[in-house]
Amino acid sequence: MITDTMKKHNYSAGPCILPQEVFEKSAEAILDYNNSGLSILEISHRSKEFIAIMEEARALALDLLGLTGKGYQALFLSGGASLEFLMVPYNLMKVDGKAAYLDSGTWASNAITEAKAFGETVVVASSKSDNYTHIPKDFVIPAEADYFHCTSNNTIFGTQMKSFPKTNIPVVCDMSSDIFSRVIDFTQFDLIYAGAQKNMGPAGTTLVIVKEEILGKTGRAIPAILDYQKHIKAESMYNTPPVFPVYASLLTMQWLKEKGGVAAIEIENNAKAELLYTEIDRNPYFKGTVAKEDRSSMNATFLLENEAHTPIFDTLWKEAGISGITGHRSVGGYRASMYNALPIESVQVLVDVMQDFESKVSGMKF
Ligand SMILES: *Cc1c(COP(=O)(O)O)cnc(C)c1O
Repeated sequence: MITDTMKKHNYSAGPCILPQEVFEKSAEAILDYNNSGLSILEISHRSKEFIAIMEEARALALDLLGLTGKGYQALFLSGGASLEFLMVPYNLMKVDGKAAYLDSGTWASNAITEAKAFGETVVVASSKSDNYTHIPKDFVIPAEADYFHCTSNNTIFGTQMKSFPKTNIPVVCDMSSDIFSRVIDFTQFDLIYAGAQKNMGPAGTTLVIVKEEILGKTGRAIPAILDYQKHIKAESMYNTPPVFPVYASLLTMQWLKEKGGVAAIEIENNAKAELLYTEIDRNPYFKGTVAKEDRSSMNATFLLENEAHTPIFDTLWKEAGISGITGHRSVGGYRASMYNALPIESVQVLVDVMQDFESKVSGMKF
């Protein structure tokens, strides 16, 4: 058993920290699921035990987002968010139709690449030339496009959309790294998807929430495994679902519901982000990498003012039991991912390290 003193302050961008009670309940279920004499890893996905897990997970996902009874279906699929990059155009882009995309980061850009294989893909705006340090804002969405796709939180660059454009066409959003982190009017989206491993569970399943009425309009022949309508009809069990990742995701959603849901966690997430960004802005030895108004409350990216100080800072945070804050290779520097399960105490440890670093280097001459 991991003890409190061994437990790291885990800032990993994904797979990421989950609530401790989710690890404990998952471990129990691997040994014996609900006193059934069977491990969760060996029960049939058609067993009444697993059907109950899947039903509750699908219902709770809609409930947490305020989408129950509003024409949406929740699915737990495989293939990661990356498979959704092509399932979305397969299911929504008409033959000879077109789609509109906002290019706000690497994942958005990967989604655009996949869409281009299906038809005309209009990039309404891009911040690529600025190395994605801001969210593009003034753009026009073509009214005749089959859908508009955006990425709510850019995990790699540390930017987050604070508002979403109004349009009459279906809106699709990749929420992989900020699902269940803040209250938004989720009814403005027609399709939401999120790889579980950023803020919801272990790697291996993707939550897809789709408004049923937008499906079945493309005129395309869709392979069954890629067809959202087939998955809905099969109650998210068209093929063997990722049993364990779905169960662990359910445990995380139950934990969130018990805490008071998305509104309650948003307050904590804002407090964590405020604590860290205040220090980044105050401390003369650090600087943030993105436009302030677009800063992500999930992934905070920052650099040292003087790269020569890197070994000193790295030693300090490692000694403090911090893990996973090295920045993505395309940005460099540091990235502190503050997902739902990261306690504010861990953020305070990082802030203390930054202040300790400041007092150490301020006395040095380079
Ligand atoms: C991580 C991530 C992805 C890719 O997820 P996979 O599950 O690895 O395919 C897509 N979009 C965003 C915003 C991400 O953070």
